[in-house]
Amino acid sequence: MKFNLAVIPGDGIGPEVLDGALQAIRAVEEKFSHQIVLAEAEAGGAAIDKTGEPLPRETIRACKNADSVMLGAVGGWQWDHLPGDQRPERALLGLRSELGLYANLRPAALHKALADACPLRPELVPNGIDIMVVRELTGGLYFGDRGRKQTDMGEAAWDTELYSVEEVRRIAVMAFSIAQKRQKRVTNIDKANVLESSRLWRETVLAAAREYPDVMLDHLYVDNAAMQLIRDPGRFDVIVTTNMFGDILSDEASQITGSIGMLPSASLGGSGFGLYEPIHGSAPDIAGQNLANPIASILSAAMMFRYSFHLEEEAAAIESAVTKALEAGYRTADIRGAGAAPTGTKEMSGIIARNILAG
Ligand code: NAD
Repeated sequence: MKFNLAVIPGDGIGPEVLDGALQAIRAVEEKFSHQIVLAEAEAGGAAIDKTGEPLPRETIRACKNADSVMLGAVGGWQWDHLPGDQRPERALLGLRSELGLYANLRPAALHKALADACPLRPELVPNGIDIMVVRELTGGLYFGDRGRKQTDMGEAAWDTELYSVEEVRRIAVMAFSIAQKRQKRVTNIDKANVLESSRLWRETVLAAAREYPDVMLDHLYVDNAAMQLIRDPGRFDVIVTTNMFGDILSDEASQITGSIGMLPSASLGGSGFGLYEPIHGSAPDIAGQNLANPIASILSAAMMFRYSFHLEEEAAAIESAVTKALEAGYRTADIRGAGAAPTGTKEMSGIIARNILAG
Protein backbone atom coordinates (compact mmCIF):
# COMPACT_ATOMS: atom_id res chain seq x y z
CA MET A 1 0.00 0.00 0.00
CA LYS A 2 1.09 3.59 -0.56
CA PHE A 3 0.71 6.35 2.05
CA ASN A 4 1.59 10.03 2.19
CA LEU A 5 2.87 11.12 5.55
CA ALA A 6 3.50 14.70 6.69
CA VAL A 7 6.27 14.88 9.30
CA ILE A 8 6.83 17.82 11.63
CA PRO A 9 10.06 17.49 13.65
CA GLY A 10 9.48 20.68 15.72
CA ASP A 11 11.85 21.78 18.49
CA GLY A 12 14.11 20.45 21.26
CA ILE A 13 14.12 16.65 21.31
CA GLY A 14 11.30 16.62 18.70
CA PRO A 15 13.61 15.92 15.72
CA GLU A 16 15.62 13.32 17.71
CA VAL A 17 12.62 11.24 18.78
CA LEU A 18 10.84 11.64 15.45
CA ASP A 19 13.93 10.18 13.78
CA GLY A 20 13.36 7.03 15.88
CA ALA A 21 9.76 6.81 14.63
CA LEU A 22 10.88 7.32 11.03
CA GLN A 23 13.44 4.52 11.33
CA ALA A 24 10.65 2.25 12.59
CA ILE A 25 8.38 3.35 9.72
CA ARG A 26 11.13 2.63 7.17
CA ALA A 27 11.64 -0.81 8.71
CA VAL A 28 7.89 -1.54 8.45
CA GLU A 29 7.88 -0.25 4.87
CA GLU A 30 10.68 -2.68 3.94
CA LYS A 31 9.35 -5.66 5.87
CA PHE A 32 5.74 -5.37 4.69
CA SER A 33 6.43 -3.91 1.21
CA HIS A 34 4.55 -0.63 1.63
CA GLN A 35 5.48 2.70 0.11
CA ILE A 36 5.46 5.64 2.49
CA VAL A 37 6.13 9.05 0.99
CA LEU A 38 7.31 11.66 3.48
CA ALA A 39 6.72 15.43 3.24
CA GLU A 40 8.56 17.42 5.91
CA ALA A 41 6.83 20.53 7.28
CA GLU A 42 7.60 23.07 9.99
CA ALA A 43 5.69 24.10 13.09
CA GLY A 44 6.47 25.54 16.51
CA GLY A 45 9.66 27.45 17.29
CA ALA A 46 11.43 26.19 14.16
CA ALA A 47 8.63 27.70 12.05
CA ILE A 48 8.65 30.98 14.03
CA ASP A 49 12.38 31.40 13.36
CA LYS A 50 11.92 30.77 9.67
CA THR A 51 8.56 32.35 8.83
CA GLY A 52 7.56 34.43 11.88
CA GLU A 53 4.53 32.25 12.72
CA PRO A 54 4.13 28.97 14.62
CA LEU A 55 1.84 27.31 12.09
CA PRO A 56 2.49 28.48 8.50
CA ARG A 57 -0.29 27.96 5.92
CA GLU A 58 2.09 25.74 3.99
CA THR A 59 2.29 23.33 6.93
CA ILE A 60 -1.50 23.13 7.17
CA ARG A 61 -1.63 22.46 3.43
CA ALA A 62 1.02 19.71 3.68
CA CYS A 63 -0.95 18.06 6.51
CA LYS A 64 -4.26 18.27 4.63
CA ASN A 65 -2.62 16.67 1.57
CA ALA A 66 -1.30 13.78 3.65
CA ASP A 67 -2.97 10.58 4.88
CA SER A 68 -1.57 11.15 8.34
CA VAL A 69 0.78 13.41 10.32
CA MET A 70 3.64 12.62 12.71
CA LEU A 71 4.89 15.34 15.06
CA GLY A 72 7.98 15.41 17.31
CA ALA A 73 7.31 18.17 19.87
CA VAL A 74 7.24 21.96 19.93
CA GLY A 75 8.33 24.67 22.36
CA GLY A 76 11.39 25.96 24.16
CA TRP A 77 12.73 28.79 26.31
CA GLN A 78 13.85 30.79 23.22
CA TRP A 79 10.21 31.55 22.44
CA ASP A 80 8.85 31.89 26.00
CA HIS A 81 8.87 35.71 25.82
CA LEU A 82 6.38 35.77 22.91
CA PRO A 83 2.69 36.60 23.52
CA GLY A 84 0.42 33.53 23.93
CA ASP A 85 -1.02 33.53 20.42
CA GLN A 86 2.45 33.64 18.82
CA ARG A 87 4.12 30.93 20.88
CA PRO A 88 5.16 27.54 19.45
CA GLU A 89 2.43 25.67 21.37
CA ARG A 90 -0.25 27.60 19.40
CA ALA A 91 0.67 25.32 16.49
CA LEU A 92 -0.84 22.36 18.37
CA LEU A 93 -4.25 24.02 18.87
CA GLY A 94 -4.16 25.27 15.27
CA LEU A 95 -3.42 21.81 13.89
CA ARG A 96 -6.24 20.24 15.93
CA SER A 97 -8.85 22.70 14.75
CA GLU A 98 -7.63 22.97 11.12
CA LEU A 99 -7.51 19.19 10.78
CA GLY A 100 -10.82 18.55 12.63
CA LEU A 101 -9.16 16.29 15.23
CA TYR A 102 -11.88 15.80 17.84
CA ALA A 103 -10.63 12.68 19.63
CA ASN A 104 -7.45 12.32 21.63
CA LEU A 105 -6.32 8.75 22.31
CA ARG A 106 -3.78 8.27 25.06
CA PRO A 107 -2.85 4.73 25.96
CA ALA A 108 -1.28 4.20 29.37
CA ALA A 109 0.36 0.79 29.44
CA LEU A 110 2.91 -0.60 31.86
CA HIS A 111 5.50 -2.80 30.16
CA LYS A 112 6.29 -5.92 32.23
CA ALA A 113 10.01 -5.19 31.84
CA LEU A 114 9.45 -1.77 33.45
CA ALA A 115 7.22 -2.89 36.32
CA ASP A 116 9.65 -1.24 38.76
CA ALA A 117 8.90 2.18 37.24
CA CYS A 118 5.27 2.00 38.42
CA PRO A 119 4.84 4.07 41.59
CA LEU A 120 1.96 1.84 42.79
CA ARG A 121 2.54 -1.14 45.09
CA PRO A 122 2.80 -4.39 43.04
CA GLU A 123 -0.29 -5.89 44.73
CA LEU A 124 -2.39 -3.03 43.27
CA VAL A 125 -1.38 -3.98 39.71
CA PRO A 126 -1.27 -7.80 39.69
CA ASN A 127 -2.06 -7.92 35.96
CA GLY A 128 -0.25 -4.77 34.83
CA ILE A 129 -1.91 -1.67 33.37
CA ASP A 130 -3.35 -1.29 29.87
CA ILE A 131 -5.73 1.66 29.62
CA MET A 132 -6.83 3.67 26.60
CA VAL A 133 -8.11 7.15 27.47
CA VAL A 134 -10.36 8.57 24.73
CA ARG A 135 -10.70 12.28 25.42
CA GLU A 136 -13.00 14.69 23.56
CA LEU A 137 -10.66 17.34 22.18
CA THR A 138 -12.51 20.20 20.51
CA GLY A 139 -15.50 20.98 22.73
CA GLY A 140 -16.52 21.45 26.35
CA LEU A 141 -15.11 23.83 28.90
CA TYR A 142 -11.97 24.72 26.93
CA PHE A 143 -13.97 26.00 23.97
CA GLY A 144 -17.20 27.31 25.55
CA ASP A 145 -18.28 30.88 26.10
CA ARG A 146 -16.19 32.70 28.73
CA GLY A 147 -15.83 36.13 30.17
CA ARG A 148 -15.49 38.45 33.14
CA LYS A 149 -17.85 40.90 34.79
CA GLN A 150 -18.11 43.13 37.85
CA THR A 151 -20.33 41.90 40.68
CA ASP A 152 -21.14 42.94 44.29
CA MET A 153 -18.38 40.53 45.32
CA GLY A 154 -15.79 42.13 43.00
CA GLU A 155 -14.62 40.93 39.60
CA ALA A 156 -16.00 37.54 38.54
CA ALA A 157 -15.15 35.19 35.65
CA TRP A 158 -16.91 32.25 33.98
CA ASP A 159 -16.27 29.43 31.52
CA THR A 160 -19.00 27.31 29.95
CA GLU A 161 -19.20 23.56 29.45
CA LEU A 162 -21.31 23.05 26.33
CA TYR A 163 -21.70 19.75 24.48
CA SER A 164 -24.05 18.86 21.65
CA VAL A 165 -25.45 15.36 21.14
CA GLU A 166 -23.44 14.99 17.93
CA GLU A 167 -20.16 15.95 19.63
CA VAL A 168 -20.75 13.34 22.33
CA ARG A 169 -22.06 10.67 19.96
CA ARG A 170 -19.01 10.74 17.70
CA ILE A 171 -16.53 10.42 20.59
CA ALA A 172 -18.62 7.63 22.15
CA VAL A 173 -18.69 5.76 18.83
CA MET A 174 -14.90 6.15 18.61
CA ALA A 175 -14.50 4.70 22.13
CA PHE A 176 -16.84 1.74 21.48
CA SER A 177 -15.10 0.90 18.17
CA ILE A 178 -11.69 0.98 19.87
CA ALA A 179 -12.98 -1.21 22.72
CA GLN A 180 -14.12 -3.80 20.17
CA LYS A 181 -10.45 -4.29 19.25
CA ARG A 182 -9.39 -4.54 22.92
CA GLN A 183 -11.05 -6.01 26.03
CA LYS A 184 -14.54 -4.80 25.00
CA ARG A 185 -15.08 -2.65 28.08
CA VAL A 186 -15.82 1.10 28.13
CA THR A 187 -15.97 3.23 31.27
CA ASN A 188 -17.76 6.53 30.75
CA ILE A 189 -16.53 9.24 33.11
CA ASP A 190 -18.66 12.30 33.84
CA LYS A 191 -20.18 14.29 36.68
CA ALA A 192 -23.83 13.52 35.94
CA ASN A 193 -24.81 13.84 39.61
CA VAL A 194 -24.13 17.61 39.40
CA LEU A 195 -23.71 18.90 35.83
CA GLU A 196 -26.50 19.17 33.23
CA SER A 197 -23.91 18.89 30.43
CA SER A 198 -22.81 15.57 31.99
CA ARG A 199 -26.41 14.32 32.07
CA LEU A 200 -26.75 14.93 28.32
CA TRP A 201 -23.29 13.38 27.86
CA ARG A 202 -24.35 10.21 29.73
CA GLU A 203 -27.72 9.90 27.94
CA THR A 204 -25.90 10.16 24.61
CA VAL A 205 -23.24 7.59 25.54
CA LEU A 206 -26.02 5.22 26.64
CA ALA A 207 -27.85 5.71 23.34
CA ALA A 208 -24.66 5.06 21.33
CA ALA A 209 -23.97 1.92 23.39
CA ARG A 210 -27.08 0.24 21.94
CA GLU A 211 -25.20 -0.13 18.63
CA TYR A 212 -22.37 -2.00 20.43
CA PRO A 213 -24.03 -4.84 22.36
CA ASP A 214 -20.72 -6.73 22.50
CA VAL A 215 -19.08 -3.94 24.54
CA MET A 216 -19.68 -3.67 28.30
CA LEU A 217 -20.35 -0.12 29.48
CA ASP A 218 -20.13 1.27 32.99
CA HIS A 219 -20.09 4.81 34.40
CA LEU A 220 -18.03 6.56 37.06
CA TYR A 221 -18.21 10.08 38.42
CA VAL A 222 -14.92 11.83 37.78
CA ASP A 223 -13.95 12.12 41.46
CA ASN A 224 -14.38 8.38 41.95
CA ALA A 225 -12.56 7.67 38.67
CA ALA A 226 -9.53 9.66 39.89
CA MET A 227 -9.45 7.40 42.98
CA GLN A 228 -9.97 4.14 41.07
CA LEU A 229 -7.08 4.93 38.73
CA ILE A 230 -4.65 4.61 41.62
CA ARG A 231 -6.62 2.07 43.68
CA ASP A 232 -7.45 -0.46 40.95
CA PRO A 233 -6.11 0.61 37.52
CA GLY A 234 -6.59 -2.93 36.18
CA ARG A 235 -10.39 -2.38 36.19
CA PHE A 236 -10.10 -0.03 33.18
CA ASP A 237 -9.92 -0.93 29.50
CA VAL A 238 -11.20 2.08 27.49
CA ILE A 239 -12.13 5.35 29.22
CA VAL A 240 -14.28 7.90 27.39
CA THR A 241 -14.61 11.38 28.81
CA THR A 242 -14.85 15.12 28.24
CA ASN A 243 -12.09 17.51 27.24
CA MET A 244 -11.31 18.76 30.75
CA PHE A 245 -11.79 15.50 32.66
CA GLY A 246 -9.69 13.75 30.00
CA ASP A 247 -6.93 16.33 30.29
CA ILE A 248 -6.58 15.63 34.01
CA LEU A 249 -7.21 11.86 34.04
CA SER A 250 -4.88 11.10 31.12
CA ASP A 251 -2.01 12.78 32.99
CA GLU A 252 -2.86 10.77 36.09
CA ALA A 253 -3.00 7.55 34.04
CA SER A 254 0.37 8.32 32.41
CA GLN A 255 2.06 8.86 35.76
CA ILE A 256 1.15 5.40 37.07
CA THR A 257 3.01 3.81 34.15
CA GLY A 258 6.41 5.36 34.87
CA SER A 259 8.20 7.55 32.34
CA ILE A 260 6.68 10.21 30.16
CA GLY A 261 9.17 9.10 27.49
CA MET A 262 7.23 5.87 26.91
CA LEU A 263 3.74 7.16 26.11
CA PRO A 264 2.37 7.81 22.61
CA SER A 265 -0.81 9.59 21.55
CA ALA A 266 -3.13 10.00 18.60
CA SER A 267 -5.52 12.80 17.72
CA LEU A 268 -8.16 11.60 15.29
CA GLY A 269 -10.84 13.08 13.08
CA GLY A 270 -13.74 11.22 11.53
CA SER A 271 -12.19 9.73 8.42
CA GLY A 272 -9.26 7.92 10.05
CA PHE A 273 -6.94 10.86 9.44
CA GLY A 274 -4.76 11.37 12.50
CA LEU A 275 -1.95 13.32 14.08
CA TYR A 276 0.44 11.15 16.06
CA GLU A 277 2.90 12.43 18.65
CA PRO A 278 4.48 11.50 21.97
CA ILE A 279 2.68 12.94 25.00
CA HIS A 280 5.86 14.63 26.21
CA GLY A 281 7.09 18.08 25.23
CA SER A 282 10.32 19.24 23.63
CA ALA A 283 12.42 18.64 26.80
CA PRO A 284 14.91 21.48 26.18
CA ASP A 285 16.90 20.32 29.23
CA ILE A 286 18.12 17.22 27.39
CA ALA A 287 17.86 18.31 23.73
CA GLY A 288 20.79 17.51 21.45
CA GLN A 289 22.46 15.19 23.96
CA ASN A 290 21.34 11.79 22.65
CA LEU A 291 19.54 11.31 25.98
CA ALA A 292 15.86 11.35 24.96
CA ASN A 293 13.77 8.20 25.02
CA PRO A 294 12.43 7.71 21.46
CA ILE A 295 9.92 5.00 22.46
CA ALA A 296 6.89 7.31 22.88
CA SER A 297 7.45 8.58 19.35
CA ILE A 298 8.05 5.07 17.98
CA LEU A 299 4.86 3.78 19.64
CA SER A 300 3.01 6.75 18.11
CA ALA A 301 4.01 5.33 14.71
CA ALA A 302 2.49 1.98 15.79
CA MET A 303 -0.76 3.80 16.63
CA MET A 304 -0.71 5.40 13.18
CA PHE A 305 -0.52 2.02 11.46
CA ARG A 306 -3.40 0.75 13.64
CA TYR A 307 -5.82 3.69 13.69
CA SER A 308 -5.19 5.51 10.41
CA PHE A 309 -4.00 2.75 8.08
CA HIS A 310 -5.83 -0.18 9.76
CA LEU A 311 -2.68 -2.32 9.54
CA GLU A 312 -2.74 -4.29 12.78
CA GLU A 313 0.17 -6.59 11.97
CA GLU A 314 2.45 -3.65 11.21
CA ALA A 315 1.41 -1.90 14.45
CA ALA A 316 2.03 -5.08 16.45
CA ALA A 317 5.45 -5.52 14.80
CA ILE A 318 6.55 -2.11 16.13
CA GLU A 319 5.14 -2.79 19.59
CA SER A 320 6.82 -6.16 19.91
CA ALA A 321 10.13 -4.69 18.65
CA VAL A 322 9.92 -2.20 21.55
CA THR A 323 9.08 -4.95 24.05
CA LYS A 324 12.00 -7.04 22.74
CA ALA A 325 14.44 -4.13 23.21
CA LEU A 326 13.22 -3.60 26.79
CA GLU A 327 13.31 -7.31 27.59
CA ALA A 328 16.89 -7.45 26.28
CA GLY A 329 17.71 -4.85 28.93
CA TYR A 330 18.18 -1.72 26.79
CA ARG A 331 17.17 1.42 28.71
CA THR A 332 17.43 5.12 27.93
CA ALA A 333 18.51 7.33 30.84
CA ASP A 334 14.93 8.13 31.97
CA ILE A 335 14.01 4.47 32.59
CA ARG A 336 17.28 2.91 33.66
CA GLY A 337 17.86 1.58 37.16
CA ALA A 338 20.62 2.91 39.38
CA GLY A 339 24.08 1.98 38.12
CA ALA A 340 22.98 0.62 34.72
CA ALA A 341 24.60 2.20 31.65
CA PRO A 342 22.04 4.09 29.54
CA THR A 343 21.37 3.46 25.87
CA GLY A 344 21.41 6.61 23.72
CA THR A 345 18.48 7.87 21.61
CA LYS A 346 20.13 6.87 18.34
CA GLU A 347 21.19 3.45 19.59
CA MET A 348 17.70 2.67 21.00
CA SER A 349 16.09 3.75 17.70
CA GLY A 350 18.47 1.55 15.72
CA ILE A 351 17.89 -1.48 17.97
CA ILE A 352 14.10 -1.18 17.64
CA ALA A 353 14.25 -0.75 13.84
CA ARG A 354 16.47 -3.84 13.57
CA ASN A 355 14.07 -5.78 15.81
CA ILE A 356 11.21 -4.92 13.42
CA LEU A 357 13.16 -6.21 10.44
CA ALA A 358 14.24 -9.36 12.30
CA GLY A 359 10.83 -10.04 13.89
P1 NAD B 1 8.50 18.04 28.78
O1 NAD B 1 7.58 16.91 28.56
O2 NAD B 1 9.20 18.56 27.59
O3 NAD B 1 9.61 17.61 29.88
C1 NAD B 1 9.29 17.26 31.21
C2 NAD B 1 10.44 16.42 31.80
O4 NAD B 1 10.42 15.12 31.19
C3 NAD B 1 11.82 16.99 31.51
O5 NAD B 1 12.66 16.73 32.61
C4 NAD B 1 12.32 16.20 30.31
O6 NAD B 1 13.73 16.06 30.24
C5 NAD B 1 11.65 14.84 30.52
N1 NAD B 1 11.33 14.19 29.24
C6 NAD B 1 10.35 14.55 28.38
N2 NAD B 1 10.37 13.75 27.31
C7 NAD B 1 11.37 12.86 27.50
C8 NAD B 1 11.89 11.78 26.73
N3 NAD B 1 11.38 11.44 25.53
N4 NAD B 1 12.95 11.11 27.22
C9 NAD B 1 13.47 11.41 28.42
N5 NAD B 1 13.03 12.42 29.20
C10 NAD B 1 11.98 13.14 28.74
O7 NAD B 1 7.65 19.18 29.50
P2 NAD B 1 8.09 20.69 29.88
O8 NAD B 1 9.50 20.71 30.36
O9 NAD B 1 7.00 21.17 30.76
O10 NAD B 1 7.98 21.51 28.53
C11 NAD B 1 9.08 21.78 27.66
C12 NAD B 1 8.55 22.49 26.42
O11 NAD B 1 7.70 21.58 25.69
C13 NAD B 1 7.68 23.70 26.74
O12 NAD B 1 7.98 24.70 25.80
C14 NAD B 1 6.26 23.19 26.57
O13 NAD B 1 5.36 24.19 26.25
C15 NAD B 1 6.43 22.21 25.43
N6 NAD B 1 5.42 21.15 25.35
C16 NAD B 1 5.12 20.71 24.09
C17 NAD B 1 4.23 19.65 23.92
C18 NAD B 1 3.97 19.14 22.54
O14 NAD B 1 4.70 19.47 21.61
N7 NAD B 1 2.96 18.31 22.33
C19 NAD B 1 3.64 19.05 25.05
C20 NAD B 1 4.00 19.50 26.32
C21 NAD B 1 4.90 20.55 26.46
